Amino acid sequence: MSDIVICDQRFRAMALPNAPLEMLGQGYRWLEGPVWFADHDCLYVSDIPNDRILRWSEDGGVSVFRRPSGFANGHARDRQGRLIGCSHRGRCITRTELDGTVTVLVSHYRGKRLNSPNDVVCKSDGTLWFSDPLYGINTDYEGGKQQAELPPTLYRLDPATGDLAIAADDFEGPNGLAFSPDERLLYVAESGRQFDADPRQYIRRFHVDGDNRLTGGAQFHKVLPGFADGLRADEQGNIWSSAADGIHCIGPDGELLGKVITPWPVSNLAFGGRNRSRLFICASHALMAIYVNVRGCVRP
Ligand code: MG
Repeated sequence: MSDIVICDQRFRAMALPNAPLEMLGQGYRWLEGPVWFADHDCLYVSDIPNDRILRWSEDGGVSVFRRPSGFANGHARDRQGRLIGCSHRGRCITRTELDGTVTVLVSHYRGKRLNSPNDVVCKSDGTLWFSDPLYGINTDYEGGKQQAELPPTLYRLDPATGDLAIAADDFEGPNGLAFSPDERLLYVAESGRQFDADPRQYIRRFHVDGDNRLTGGAQFHKVLPGFADGLRADEQGNIWSSAADGIHCIGPDGELLGKVITPWPVSNLAFGGRNRSRLFICASHALMAIYVNVRGCVRP
């Protein structure tokens, strides 16, 4: 299949030569923040410049789930199954309760406004880890120009107590993030300063200790062409990253294993479907999908 590029023999068992790259919808502006809701049998995904969250299902196609969305970006589910979201415009992390009301979980750190939370993951202990770069307040296109009050930072929020802690503060543009299946490793995309001619862009890998402290953080892999934005781990511990030419699968050793080539640059991805083995792809203005022969890590 021409959409699949095998760079390492390990990828042969992960790709399905007879599974086509499917177009689920297009005509959006810039898709981000996909999250699979198996109990709803649907995908939620942000269309950031259009200030809305879309919903896709096999039978219903694409519909608008929420508009305005506060220029929503990344999404995750918490341990109770609730939708956790990043809001550029609101400069906050939200939780959609089971009755549909939206609660702001955090919007400030020590009295100063967050920048524009970009992506979020939930650890099995219920803590929410999110990146807070400046991308959403750098332009009107993705949220609205506003002044930064804090440096780009990776945070850890305990929703049970409201405690917000800095997980790592040596980023120029923290972006997508994913835990390894055993949660002992945290991968975070550094996508650099938005308007730099040669921004710092690579995936970093941290070790997570029993007290949720991070150590390490060295470069794990540099995605080329393009750069890593959204990331997901599969159940074998491989990392699937967005790239300018599609999706790249990277082994736990940092080696590029293979690619799914798309017609447009990819911002983010999510495993979903009945067995978590369908890869949903935010390809610029289009929503695409392809079945693969590996399952996504249980946590989004
Ligand atoms: Mg992102």
